[in-house]
Amino acid sequence: MNKHIAVLPGDGIGPEITDGAVRVLHAVAKTFGHTFTFEPLLIGGAALDACGEPLPERTVERCLASDSVLLGAVGGPKWEQLPGEKRPEAGLLGIRKALGLYANIRPARLWRALADASPLKCAQDTPIDLVVVRELTGGIYFGARGTREDADMGTTAWDTEQYSVHEIERITRIACSIAEKRGGRIVSVDKANVLDSSRLWRKTVHAYAEVNYPHIRITDMLVDNCAMQLVKDPAQFDVMLTSNMFGDILSDEAAQITGSIGMLASSSLGDGTRGLYEPIHGSAPDIAGKDLANPIATILSAAMMLRDSFLLEREAAAVERAVGEVLDAGYRTADISPADASRVGCRQMADLIAERI
Ligand code: NAD
Repeated sequence: MNKHIAVLPGDGIGPEITDGAVRVLHAVAKTFGHTFTFEPLLIGGAALDACGEPLPERTVERCLASDSVLLGAVGGPKWEQLPGEKRPEAGLLGIRKALGLYANIRPARLWRALADASPLKCAQDTPIDLVVVRELTGGIYFGARGTREDADMGTTAWDTEQYSVHEIERITRIACSIAEKRGGRIVSVDKANVLDSSRLWRKTVHAYAEVNYPHIRITDMLVDNCAMQLVKDPAQFDVMLTSNMFGDILSDEAAQITGSIGMLASSSLGDGTRGLYEPIHGSAPDIAGKDLANPIATILSAAMMLRDSFLLEREAAAVERAVGEVLDAGYRTADISPADASRVGCRQMADLIAERI
């Protein structure tokens, strides 16, 4: 298989961690007989420094011409004083919009060797391996809002949760397509006992899935119960399907129960197969350029790209297996390292994983 991958290293530790993921992808290509080409492109503070804007037109054009996009992270103190549209983060929002991405996918997996890092007592004997599929471009964050002076109530502010059938169907499709590559189970999260938008959400999720993915088992859970179940019995979840705001909150809760931020991958997907794959963490300016960053979140993001954009399940599983083996062998970057572990830098961690592909 031939694939052209746009690589957006960005700022801070971005260049180190994307370099690590690219080296792992080279190993995948060699072992499984594929040809992957990589095109480095500017985004964020690096783009501001080079050409005065956080998302150069060329970056958008070349990402649109690519099969998929791998991103490091953007931002840092150097650019913090700039106005909103000139800040590095504007590049991130801009590229998601330009690529038409409306689904945010965040796996939360507790690696056996890192069970101690979880704040949950049950983590030693409970496997945690779930994926949050969050709607990213609708709901209350994008609905009508305002602030008014009310004669009776004084200053009053309001936001609107609004979803169309189309928006719910397209995010359900993505959740179903991910569930069918995993355990085939979806918990759809809503607040249908109170909200009209949630009642439409629930009805539409079932109607769409029954016709298009009859083999996927869908159950509903109220968001307040879901927040409890996530810490009480996280092993019950396979794929969790949520609206924008519920997913914002629950995906952070799910991330936290698995330990280090340096381990957590993500993707943003739209209608086509092209996605934007990136670690959930930021550019970590405090450790940039010191070979201290954990590249695993970016390497696992690359594994998601193999599975969800290129349909290379064996290759994705090989990357995940290699990560597990390296952790089982006791290697740790500083962020996940107890005092007695074999501490390695960003580059060596990536090489150890690449060697095991
Ligand atoms: P951060 O995620 O960059 O760092 C938080 C802490 O986690 C730091 O101590 C850092 O050293 C550590 N850390 C993060 N990733 C790590 C890794 N892979 N390995 C080891 N340690 C790691 O969050 P922050 O400090 O709040 O933000 C720093 C910059 O990143 C800001 O400019 C912020 O706007 C930006 N940011 C970007 C993104 C993105 O590009 N998607 C996301 C969040 C924050």
